[in-house]
Amino acid sequence: MSANNGSLKHQVVIVGGGSAGITVAAHLLNQRPGTDVVIIEPSDKHYYQPLWTLVGGGVFPREESQRNEAALIPPGATWLKDAVTEFLPDQNQVKTRSGQTIGYEFLVVAPGIQLNWDKVKGLKGNVGKNGICSNYAYDTVEYTWECIQNLKSGVALFTQPSTPIKCGGAPQKIAYLAEDHFRRSGRRSQIEVMFVSASGVIFSVPKYAQALNQAIDRKGIQTRYLQDLVEVRPEAKEAVFRHMTSGEETVIKYDMIHITPPQGPPDFIKNSPLGNVDGWVDVNKDTLQHNRYPNIFGLGDASSLPTSKTGAAIRKQAPTVVHNLISALSGQPLTEVYNGYTSCPLVTGYGSLILAEFDYDGNSQESFPFNQAEERYSMYMLKKYGLPRIYWHGMLKGRL
Ligand SMILES: Cc1cc2nc3c(=O)[nH]c(=O)nc-3n(C[C@H](O)[C@H](O)[C@H](O)COP(=O)(O)OP(=O)(O)OC[C@H]3O[C@@H](n4cnc5c(N)ncnc54)[C@H](O)[C@@H]3O)c2cc1C
Repeated sequence: MSANNGSLKHQVVIVGGGSAGITVAAHLLNQRPGTDVVIIEPSDKHYYQPLWTLVGGGVFPREESQRNEAALIPPGATWLKDAVTEFLPDQNQVKTRSGQTIGYEFLVVAPGIQLNWDKVKGLKGNVGKNGICSNYAYDTVEYTWECIQNLKSGVALFTQPSTPIKCGGAPQKIAYLAEDHFRRSGRRSQIEVMFVSASGVIFSVPKYAQALNQAIDRKGIQTRYLQDLVEVRPEAKEAVFRHMTSGEETVIKYDMIHITPPQGPPDFIKNSPLGNVDGWVDVNKDTLQHNRYPNIFGLGDASSLPTSKTGAAIRKQAPTVVHNLISALSGQPLTEVYNGYTSCPLVTGYGSLILAEFDYDGNSQESFPFNQAEERYSMYMLKKYGLPRIYWHGMLKGRL
């Protein structure tokens, strides 16, 4: 730590102590012990969000996904419990909510994605009651299971917005679990299950899309595409969708609705010099270095990386950032390249899962010596028991 125009200056400052921030800090300190690393993170809890699909499906209580931030800060890193409000990249400084100015030699930006509930009319303040649920927040995820359990007949509606989202598969995974629960509890014939998406296809990679479409046909789930949720009328239990090309509006009546909210870059990134035209942290897709400020790196959901926003992607992005950051710290050229790897464990029911793994170009990056587009019990078990352990004990410790 050193003085910088009257403010404190650290070797590496990390904005956001979520999946990406913690993983980067852990890798960095494993490889370069003694580095002066500060993590700026306002929340005293961290969540393993991939578990929320199973929490919404009644498999785990939500507490299972939560840990104290303090317990996850890697030894040797300093946690500053504060939020960044402003970036001053020309001065190598950030400003925080509490009024501090923090200087850095290198900055890693990883504050996640912003949920924009207010972009859908009628939604704000109504999620978590009156049959409106969402797996996308810790506060509302348990209500999803309540809705699924309580629905005896009618329409169960599941939506996917037109914006980029974290975990592109999560909106449909919960539809499959709900359908499976309705069937197992003898109510399937009384309930219509509908998946309504603003996207034109069920999944971006054709190999997995084909397998998912077969599962949808087998399960008798109704699908509608290019339909963007624009309004919810809680009193009337109506959802209004706008067609992505024609603009025509359609009203669907529901008895329960699972919402995946519109999402976007955090406002404080969008309104800063670090954002690209769409507001995401503007980084090189290979090296993860900022396109205009060489001493800044970005990764995770807030970044401009043109891949699916997942924790699995971060597992590969973080070592790339750290390798290149260490090169930059010692004045060497950046040689590590991220290939866009991402993964989506597509739960298709209680006990079945398609494990999608692919790169920037949709090329297969599968880990197992079998066709992962097939629904498998073993992969469901990996999601339920294996991946959480890999996350807490491997990835967040910088071991994987
Ligand atoms: C329902 C659901 C299911 C999912 N399923 C999967 C899955 O099966 N597999 C998978 O790989 N991924 C899945 N994901 C996605 C995965 O959880 C995210 O991609 C991942 O957590 C993103 O990590 P991140 O570090 O970018 O953001 P986060 O982990 O969200 O962390 C961002 C951190 O930045 C902090 N922050 C925000 N603003 C500021 C500020 N101003 N200053 C400082 N800090 C700030 C936040 O408090 C937060 O701690 C799922 C997500 C959801 C919601």
